[in-house]
Amino acid sequence: MNIILLGPPGAGKGTQARFLCDERDMIQLSTGDMLREAKDSGTEMGKIVADVMARGELVTDEIVIGLIREKLKGDKKGGFIFDGFPRTLAQADALAELLAEEGETLDAVIEMQVDDNALVARITARSTCANCGEVYNDNTKPIPADGKCSNCGGTEFKRRADDNEESLKQRLMEYYKKTSPLIGYYYAKGQLSSIDGLGEMSAVKADISKVLDA
Ligand code: AMP
Repeated sequence: MNIILLGPPGAGKGTQARFLCDERDMIQLSTGDMLREAKDSGTEMGKIVADVMARGELVTDEIVIGLIREKLKGDKKGGFIFDGFPRTLAQADALAELLAEEGETLDAVIEMQVDDNALVARITARSTCANCGEVYNDNTKPIPADGKCSNCGGTEFKRRADDNEESLKQRLMEYYKKTSPLIGYYYAKGQLSSIDGLGEMSAVKADISKVLDA
């Protein structure tokens, strides 16, 4: 089963993708994570995208489609969760072609709906374990008092460089201009399911399960 988690930055796509990896043996394909990895390891491509990401703009379709193409050739396990991809109509078309080339289908597109005020609050409060990527939130899921990650025991936590208000404004603008048209696109294709992304993590998780098990 291959699915897209669609929603603005801070909607909870990454958190829910991690649940699905654990429980359904799926593979999370986050283009944001791939790009951050490239940036941190100082590859040529990483250098090219660093400024664009810091500004909160989208990197070129060509780059992200190339990243996804490579991953689709690898182990497919319980299927792919596309997290933060596609973000443009061109990427959506490319994904359809890439899946077809691999003899795969797109089984669900889950739109996670969250209002903008909640997004700003979530994003400016979030951090992740530097070791395993577990997501924390200063208000709703603080780092444990003993300073150890509840998932792996790691003691280093990081905040994303682009999780600041200025960059977030631009990321939201990019979402509404370039990514939100995908909601209509997948609706028209009969593939869209929309869920409330504002509830408790466990409630959102249950709603996603309902869609996948339907
Ligand atoms: P994310 O971790 O999904 O919030 O992505 C972080 C940043 O990486 C975005 O603000 C973009 O600059 C870039 N990025 C991630 N995925 C894509 C994509 N599919 N298309 C274009 N840019 C992307």
